[in-house]
Amino acid sequence: MSEIYDVIVIGAGAAGMTAALYSARSNLKVLLLEQGAPGGQMNNIAEIENYPGFASIMGAELSLKMHKPLTKFGVENAYGTVKQVKNQQKYKIVITEDMIYTTKTIVIATGAVYKRLNISGETEYAGKGISYCAICDGAFFRNKELIVIGGGDSAVEEAIFLTRFASQVTIIHRRSALRAQKIIQDRAFANAKIKFLWNTIVEKIQGNERSVTQVRIKNKQNNADTISCKGVFIYIGLNPFSKPFLNLEITDKNGWIKTDANMKTNIPGIFAIGDVRKKTLRQITTAVGEGSIAGQQVYLYLQEIEN
Ligand code: FAD
Ligand code: NAP
Repeated sequence: MSEIYDVIVIGAGAAGMTAALYSARSNLKVLLLEQGAPGGQMNNIAEIENYPGFASIMGAELSLKMHKPLTKFGVENAYGTVKQVKNQQKYKIVITEDMIYTTKTIVIATGAVYKRLNISGETEYAGKGISYCAICDGAFFRNKELIVIGGGDSAVEEAIFLTRFASQVTIIHRRSALRAQKIIQDRAFANAKIKFLWNTIVEKIQGNERSVTQVRIKNKQNNADTISCKGVFIYIGLNPFSKPFLNLEITDKNGWIKTDANMKTNIPGIFAIGDVRKKTLRQITTAVGEGSIAGQQVYLYLQEIEN
């Protein structure tokens, strides 16, 4: 039989890296499985101002700082996309596209992915002016007019970031009040490059054969209009990355994984943490907090079943 891990952590974002750290420091055999670069969503954040201990830190730098100590405590890293998990009698099986792993426990920390608007032009112009990542693509739009769609923390914070490059950023929001934290709202209202279009939805993204040129909008009074722009950044919330776990029946109807306060799903030995979890506050601090709880709970669970 192949190696048996005490715990496999799926996803190396803030939540998964912390769970791996806490499990490894309990002297467990830990595998951290990731399909991309360690750090997850943090790699797409230009500046983090609300992680205690750092007045301001770049997301990519915080990712590195979290990942570095893992090797010291013996965490094994592997790359791969988890396709399925099986809960068998004694062990649990984690299946990637080219590997099958055996483990006693699993911590799911796969995060969430940006929602699509599902409007005309969104697929056609993806990568040709439509983006879901300001830090990745913002610099392509120097002195250009941009549209940001959404009214939460992501939309407003990323619109502020985009003003470093763009000549003007118009935030289009479907209601008349933002959902974003007050401090972020105030910064946007004070930014001369940011304009707001309230009670308005984008119906269609249009362009020529090379790139986006305009969006067609409609307001609550049913008045339609078009606005010229070179880029459209869409930040309308997140969907959980939980497809590989749907067979386990541990999610709600929208795919968020349900746990108790100790991060336990309803399957003994399977835990879930971070953005993929059903919860109200999706932050690095909460991801890290949940990672530490899961790390300790894995240890306690193994003590219980092995002694
Ligand atoms: P993630 O960071 O999403 O990590 C999940 C990891 O799992 C990813 O690396 C992914 O590749 C991997 N994965 C997924 N599926 C699989 C699979 N099948 N197999 C293998 N690996 C898989 N929070 C703050 O506290 N401060 C901020 O300033 C802040 N700014 C933000 C800005 C934006 C634009 C956004 C969208 C969010 C921001 N947040 C911020 C929220 C914060 O980024 C998240 O709450 C946090 O990073 C979530 O961490 P996580 O580990 O749960 O998930
Ligand atoms: P969010 O908080 O869910 O906000 C989504 C926004 O998009 C809402 O304003 C929503 O409108 C709008 N929206 C949803 N569907 C839409 C549609 N079909 N058409 C038009 N608009 C639509 O998502 P988020 O801003 O991406 O944030 C995700 C999580 O990350 C949150 O927990 C957030 O706190 C966290 N985050 C934190 C920070 C930070 O701490 N600095 C930064 C970024 C993100 P309504 O308001 O009408 O619902």
